[in-house]
Order: sequence, then C-alpha cells, then structure tokens
Amino acid sequence: MAGVTSTWTEPSNTPLTLLLLGKGTDPASERGVDCPGDLPAPSDPDLVARATAAKAALGDRVFVLGHHYQRDEVIQFADVTGDSFKLAQQAAARPDAEFIVFCGVHFMAESADILTQPSQRVILPDLAAGCSMADMAVLGQVETAWEHFQDLGIVDQIVPVTYMNSSADIKGFVGRNSGVVCTSSNAKRALDWSFEQGSKVFFLPDQHLGRNTAVLEMGFELDDCVLYDPHKPNGGLTDEQLINARMILWRGHCSVHGRFTIDSVREVRERVPGVNVLVHPECRHEVVRAADQVGSTEYIIRALDAAPAGSAWAVGTELNLVRRLALAHPDKQVMFLDRTVCYCSTMNRIDLPHLVWTLEELVAGRVPNVITVDEKTAHDARIALDQMLALP
Ligand code: SF4
Repeated sequence: MAGVTSTWTEPSNTPLTLLLLGKGTDPASERGVDCPGDLPAPSDPDLVARATAAKAALGDRVFVLGHHYQRDEVIQFADVTGDSFKLAQQAAARPDAEFIVFCGVHFMAESADILTQPSQRVILPDLAAGCSMADMAVLGQVETAWEHFQDLGIVDQIVPVTYMNSSADIKGFVGRNSGVVCTSSNAKRALDWSFEQGSKVFFLPDQHLGRNTAVLEMGFELDDCVLYDPHKPNGGLTDEQLINARMILWRGHCSVHGRFTIDSVREVRERVPGVNVLVHPECRHEVVRAADQVGSTEYIIRALDAAPAGSAWAVGTELNLVRRLALAHPDKQVMFLDRTVCYCSTMNRIDLPHLVWTLEELVAGRVPNVITVDEKTAHDARIALDQMLALP
C-alpha cells in the first residue's frame, strides 16, 4: 500500500452548524431534535453509585449497549460493546428487554429500533448525539440526485448502497430502490453483489469508504469514481462524467477519521521505526494507501489482540477506542496516529450524567428520549438491511 500514485485532491469539509450541547433544534440534521431533562451535575460524586443502583433496580428490563467510541465512564455500564451493526444485532437478540439504552449516536438507535420488536423501546440518552457524516446525506438531496439520474436515463443501471452510518430515511430510500446497506466490514461484499445487479453504484454517504473499497479492494481506477456534491447543481458533475462513472460517491465523510493526514503517517514512521500503521477505511484515500493495514473497528481490535508482544502500532481511529486498546495491551506499543486529540464530539455527548438521568427516569416509570422510526421507513430500510444480511 506504500506510495501515493493518485491525482486525487481532497475536497474541503462540508460546512455544518453543530448544535451546542443540549440546546436548540436542527430540523435539517439527522438527529433534528433537542435534548430535554434536568441532568445531574457532572461533579456529583455519587454518579457511579446512582447508575449502578438504577441499573440494578431495572434488572433484565433494561439492556445497555455501548459503542466502542463511547467514553470509559459510560462503557463501564454497557451490557455489550461493539460497532453499530453488532450492537443492533445484539439488541435484536434480546427481545425480552423492555428498554434498549443505546450509548451511541442517533442513526445507530434508529437501526436498533428497526431491528427490535415493536414492544421494545430504544432510548438515546442525549438526543443531540447525532453523526456529522449521517447528516451529510439528507433524503431530499438524495432524491434530487436520483431524479437527475432518471433524467439522464442511467437510473436503471445504478444500485444504491448506503453505509450503516446513515439515517433511517436514507436506508429506506436504498431499500425502496433495490439496494443494500453495508458496514465497513462487508463493503466489498456489498459492492460485489451490487455490480452483479447493475453497472454503477451510488454510494452513500461516506465517499472514503466507497472509494477505498472500490480502488484498493476491487481494482477500480480513481477515474472510475466521481464525487457528487449535493450543494452544487447536478452534483457539480457533467452528464458525461455521470454516464461514464462506475462509482458515484456522495460527498460525505467522517469528521473524526477525516482528520488523519498523510503527514500523520509520515511523522509516526519517522518517530517510531518499524511501527505498523493501522487505519479505518473511513480515512482519506491517501492515508489508507500509505497505511500498512486497513479495517473496521472490529478488525482493528482483532489485529491488536493478535499482534506480538513488543510490536508498535499507530492506530487511526477514534481516540476513546485507541486509548482503551493501549491500556488493554500494555505489552505492545499502541499509539494514536495523530498528534492532536480526535474524539467523536457527538459520541461524547453521551456522558455519565445523561446515562444516570436516563436510567433514573426509567426507574421512576418515565421513558425518555425514545427513538422511533415510522413504519413505512422502517419497512423499506429493513429491505436494505435484510439484503445486507443475505449477502453471499
Ligand atoms: S466517528 Fe464519524 S461516523 Fe462515527 S459517529 Fe462520529 S462522526 Fe459519525
């Protein structure tokens, strides 16, 4: 993977207005909601005891899911930890739990609601915990793009594929149009299947996962990929570009993984001779090319578990996870790929005060922050999720 041969130029970030923690409503956002409630003070010395007591009082009625990028103070109360898809599956495997408390972000809670029983309620401790990547693909924008593809006469050749990290609306769109959901673990399989159904893929919302998978795992050229910018007329592309493209990539990215640069890779290689650079496929194309290994969150965890004692690893993914991995492997040198802090700010909105508040509300008989996907959207999204589960 060494060497950068592409002429690819990274686009500038999509400007997004982030809500202040717990303040206001943003209807254009994937979360689109505000955060109610009187939270305990973060300085309350009894928070751990209060969470422990509330969780014990709820017993099997509650099942707490913790995404790998969550803070330690929250993860300690998770019944299971995992990536977004594993957590949704785990929620579905617990039909007896009345309440699923999802310590993650909004699109993950939506997927859990789609996959769980109607009687179960999925709760997000802070409704402002969205995902900037998911917010970059809004249904209206995607439908506008699709109409343009229809006008060009290419829509019958296109299979829409959406990354798990997208809103239920987008998954529903993909299901309605005979496409598939993918994760960072099965993106290649999803693309292989899609190219058996059609000659083009419309990949949402993460341009990097789409490009990295097509170019580095499937042998496509960078020129086979075009970038559809929803903020420009016709995506900023000519008809000819769209007609010739094999991968139409949505202009979305993860604001956390997008921070790693090729300079981060060069710098760590100079500083730590022999270091293994291990990155997530949401990183930019040139970073992934320069890395030694690339893989999903679960892959990163397995790679470090299997690494020999004494080996050195620079890991390009969210900082809470990298720190936990470093602590779990004291016999290995595990470091963060970048010199600067790189948390997922929206994941970090779920903190111990929000978790305590959520659990104590449930004990008191009130059910806060329920995430519900409407029936039609859930039905359509389920088609795309089931297609993913049926991938060969
Ligand atoms: S790490 Fe990136 S993709 Fe994951 S929730 Fe945060 S912004 Fe979204």
